[in-house]
Amino acid sequence: MPMKQVWLAGLLGVTAACATNPVTGRRELSLISESQEVAMGQQAAEEVRQSMGLVPDSALQSYVRGIAIRMAKASERPNLPWSFDVVDDAAVNAFALPGGSIFVTRGILAFMQNEAELATVLGHEIGHVTAKHSVQQLSKAQLAQLGLGVGSIVSSDFAALSGLVGQGLGLLMLKYGRDAETQADDLGFKYSLNDGYDVRAMKSMFEMLQRASGGTQAQGRLPQWLSTHPDPEDRIAKTDQRLTTVTTDLSKAKLNRDHFVRLQDGLVFGENPRHGFFENQRFNHPDLVFRIDFPAGWKTQNQPSAVVGVSPNQDAMFALSIPSKDTPDAMLRQFLGQQGIQGSGASSGSINGFPAASSDFQAQMQDGKIVAGRVAFLSYGGNTYQLLGYTLAQNFGTHRGSFSQAIQSFNRLTDQAALAKQPARIRLVRLGRDMTVDEFVRQYPSNASAQAVALLNGTDKGTTVLKSGSWAKRVQ
Ligand SMILES: [Zn+2]
Repeated sequence: MPMKQVWLAGLLGVTAACATNPVTGRRELSLISESQEVAMGQQAAEEVRQSMGLVPDSALQSYVRGIAIRMAKASERPNLPWSFDVVDDAAVNAFALPGGSIFVTRGILAFMQNEAELATVLGHEIGHVTAKHSVQQLSKAQLAQLGLGVGSIVSSDFAALSGLVGQGLGLLMLKYGRDAETQADDLGFKYSLNDGYDVRAMKSMFEMLQRASGGTQAQGRLPQWLSTHPDPEDRIAKTDQRLTTVTTDLSKAKLNRDHFVRLQDGLVFGENPRHGFFENQRFNHPDLVFRIDFPAGWKTQNQPSAVVGVSPNQDAMFALSIPSKDTPDAMLRQFLGQQGIQGSGASSGSINGFPAASSDFQAQMQDGKIVAGRVAFLSYGGNTYQLLGYTLAQNFGTHRGSFSQAIQSFNRLTDQAALAKQPARIRLVRLGRDMTVDEFVRQYPSNASAQAVALLNGTDKGTTVLKSGSWAKRVQ
């Protein structure tokens, strides 16, 4: 499918070369040059920024950037065009793209207690770039793409067909091996220590991840960082070993708790309903002022690049996305013009009064399977929406009605409560006396569970004492 072809075309122009790894000094096979690494990473980074969005807080962004740039400039690859952004995502996550584009989520920031913890996470991600882990991973992925292994998966074909997964989000799914993770921890520890941080924070960071994974109900979302990283317990043990090698006095090293925590005041906590939220099968988007009903019984999810639903027996998918601002007719022509796709019964007209164009289609996947679906493009509020349902061709008859119904349900959002819905935010309280987390929760009620409030304040116990004069976090 087209996205795959673009990807392959880009890769086939690449020649194998031996390059020296900046961290290990060893020569190793790399299929990409540094300028290709940077170009690939920057394109992917732009897709991440577009689809996830950045936290609209310039003080926070420049603060994170300042710390990270300082460490990156002192690393083995000081001259890369490093970039650091806080993305507007509730997931507890941080990731690095090839070439030095690094992202941390507001979700992971919320659970951190001080600047030193942030530094170790940034240092870890910088380490993935300086040790060229993603480059090695890409080289493997390229070899696979060139036919030396790993067949294609129907779902990734589906994703490519619908334009739902761009290169950037595909890169995010790269997992590094355990050795690469340990090396990134080693480097993150070293960079933070060299920058004067109290590196005991690396341990408290892993303890936080461990607690957060035990209590995912608090947030509803498993920390993403855990799904791509080794077990925190093992990382805590390795960090204890690293700490035995430190010769400086860490009690005088930087933590910068107050300044760090104060920057969190007003940070959105949990999912942001302004970016859309589900009420049973109905998806409401207050900022874009639309709603749409997904088929009854389907599992749904609001992802950064699309809102998706999957049928109960997982044989059909429906997705809504905003691919571009072209007219519905032009978008439909473009969609049906993709290689391997055949349209039938294309028509243009309107859906609930909005200009629209729609068609049934069939498409052949790389593995020979035939999928069939219905697609509509609809112009509303300055955007053109893609509404797409598809399934294996033999099941199209069963699902066609649900696809059409979902498409027809797209309409202006008029529900006042939905339009007015606001996110919960972290608010700071300066404590006038020592109090336990339990007392804090009672005295300053939160719009989040007691467990979540404890985690936000660096503990999982209600009996932990928060000190007089410190800033404590609540959710409002
Ligand atoms: Zn990692």
